[in-house]
Amino acid sequence: MKLRYFIKTFGCQQNKADSERIVASFEARGMISAKGYNDANYIVINTCMVRQSAEDRVYGLVRNLSKLKNENSKLKIIVTGCMVGLALRDKTGKLLKILKERMPEVDEFMPIEEVGFDFAPLRTDKTHAWIPISNGCNNFCSYCVVPFTRGREISRPFEDIIKEAIGLKNKGYKEITLLGQNVNSYGADLIKNSKFEYRNSKQIQNPNDQNSKRFKNSNLFQASDLEFQISKLKPIYVKHLGRYRIPTLFPYLLEEIAKLGFEKVDFISSNPWDFSDELIEVIAKYKNITRTIHLPVQSGDDNVLKRMNRWYTAKEYLKLIEKIRKKIPEVKFTTDIIVGFCGETDKEFQNTVNLCKKVGFEKTYIAMYSPRPMAAATKVMKDDVPYEVKKKRWKILEDLINKKNKLLNY
Ligand code: SF4
Repeated sequence: MKLRYFIKTFGCQQNKADSERIVASFEARGMISAKGYNDANYIVINTCMVRQSAEDRVYGLVRNLSKLKNENSKLKIIVTGCMVGLALRDKTGKLLKILKERMPEVDEFMPIEEVGFDFAPLRTDKTHAWIPISNGCNNFCSYCVVPFTRGREISRPFEDIIKEAIGLKNKGYKEITLLGQNVNSYGADLIKNSKFEYRNSKQIQNPNDQNSKRFKNSNLFQASDLEFQISKLKPIYVKHLGRYRIPTLFPYLLEEIAKLGFEKVDFISSNPWDFSDELIEVIAKYKNITRTIHLPVQSGDDNVLKRMNRWYTAKEYLKLIEKIRKKIPEVKFTTDIIVGFCGETDKEFQNTVNLCKKVGFEKTYIAMYSPRPMAAATKVMKDDVPYEVKKKRWKILEDLINKKNKLLNY
């Protein structure tokens, strides 16, 4: 009889995309999917640390699974994802010890990197696919644990991403979302490790282009059609606050994927300070690239942004919005906002409200600040905004943006 696995995923889309690769790695070993926890031989829990409540749910789940474990000594429980990533990066070993003590039922704490990108994800959605383009983050926003859970940013090879997209197109997928903690810095590490020279003439051809010689005899893309060479690309240098910050390849990548002819190409998440003019040009040029851009602002107050270690002012954020609107008049924006960050005064919160009114976001994902282990704010600032105040501020923004838009769309 074949062994069965069951995977429970907490958290963001990146985790869900990672779980699709875990599924593929199990299936490659001849295992099949279980219906639930009860009939599984292997249970994998892919964890999230964005808030304390997400961690608490993991501890609660493992506690509940202990009964199953007592009934079936052969059952294996594997924990992976952010909680494990953070614990394994803690050189003192203390965090791993805490995980082991709090979850003695767990057989293995597995770093997500172990799954790697060698397994093509097994997707259940047959029309829309998530494609991870990078993992980790170099930005160290002071409230965020991601650089510690996922480590520094590592970009997937350009060709691998294009090949995966070609495979999806050939299978009939209609929509693609490119995933990364900061898609705008995609390729910075690849660039540093390679020698570049720009060649513009042999980019991938559009399969819908009837004059294309390479696609003349076939409706399908072939991996061998990939003449695109990353080493020939000229890196785009993103200028911010008067100086060049990082080199990136993201506009090229987005353009090549848009050319494959999907009905919709989306991308998350984008840091405002790395949003290049070249990226705006590419979005404007291809109608199948999303017209709803997710641009996390987190706060509309300059002092709070400084404390958050976000490298822009409210004015610069608004200027970027205007610049994008000028090129793409039909564009809409969604955002992320944290309320009640350390020391946030009423006046500072009001600046966020004012910015939201100016932008007119379609939707906002609002989080009440909660300290995260290892993050700079946890170490050097006080979580001094009372819960009731955070809740009130959350409701003000929820009513201003999300509730109002729900009524308008009703
Ligand atoms: S919030 Fe900041 S540190 Fe966290 S993943 Fe996003 S850009 Fe990176």
